[in-house]
Amino acid sequence: RRADARALAGEDCRTADGVRIEVFANLGDAAEAAPAVAGGAEGCGLLRTEFLFLERETAPDEDEQLAEYQAIADALDGRPLIVRTLDAGGDKPLPYLPTPPEENPALGLRGVRSGLHRPDILLTQLRAICRVRSRGAVAVMLPMIASVAEVRQARAMLDVAVAETGGAAPLLGVMIETPAAAMTTDRLAPAIDFISFGTNDLTQYALAMDRQNAGLAAQLDGLHPAVLRLIARSVEGAGALKWIGVCGGLASDLTAVPILIGLGVRELSATPSMVAEVKAVVRGLTLDDCRALAAEALAQDGAEAVRALAGERLAALL
Ligand code: PEP
Ligand code: MG
Repeated sequence: RRADARALAGEDCRTADGVRIEVFANLGDAAEAAPAVAGGAEGCGLLRTEFLFLERETAPDEDEQLAEYQAIADALDGRPLIVRTLDAGGDKPLPYLPTPPEENPALGLRGVRSGLHRPDILLTQLRAICRVRSRGAVAVMLPMIASVAEVRQARAMLDVAVAETGGAAPLLGVMIETPAAAMTTDRLAPAIDFISFGTNDLTQYALAMDRQNAGLAAQLDGLHPAVLRLIARSVEGAGALKWIGVCGGLASDLTAVPILIGLGVRELSATPSMVAEVKAVVRGLTLDDCRALAAEALAQDGAEAVRALAGERLAALL
């Protein structure tokens, strides 16, 4: 089966009954892009730009950022590129972006909040993204959104960046990684083009369990019915957005893939090394089976029960 998965890695991906599922890769830098494409990635569903900002004394300037983003767009060769704006703060502190001491950094000035707090840094990044030239879609994705007001503020800054650089407006989307965003996606939807679930943080915030706490790792499972219900509710509110994706760890979790598709997800952005395997699983699924499985999963008592149920179905498929 692994050989089959590799042989078909470069083909686009549909379920057995013909539903198109885009399988993208999460990237951290330009060096990862070409191997991801060679491994079957149909685009980049999450560029974690913080790697460009970490471990240095000053923020990268606009030209340096453009060079990195352009190199990735070039390697993607017309495939979509979703660039997440700097997700600093919390577990990712930066010397040139000092945050006041916080007792709970995961609940502090992080994600889009830090970008709105330091509009100079966010605007520079948005300008660099606007200057990327690609035959494919280039999109801006905002991390840790918790309210429509944040989207409006970021959109206003993106409008400035577009006007100043004279480029085409990139698509604008948000990560759904706070319960607030999941519960109010119907309010966010008119202001955006797409959503992507950050299941790592969504799980942390839904279960009130620190994702960095090794002692809780075994319980920190995105297949908890509470997380799945948040995803279901959010998809319901999302309407007809261009992409309803997942870029958190669940997208690389073969047991979770059928449930996510059953909940309405149509784009999975996985770790590059998992792209071919995710595609192979998708090709064995039907939408009806995925929907039935998702409905059963939502009604379980806990993540263990969901994992047992979905694991059994996956084993039967493979
Ligand atoms: C997530 O939270 O699921 C996510 C994809 O973002 P990160 O892991 O970078 O916080
Ligand atoms: Mg996150």
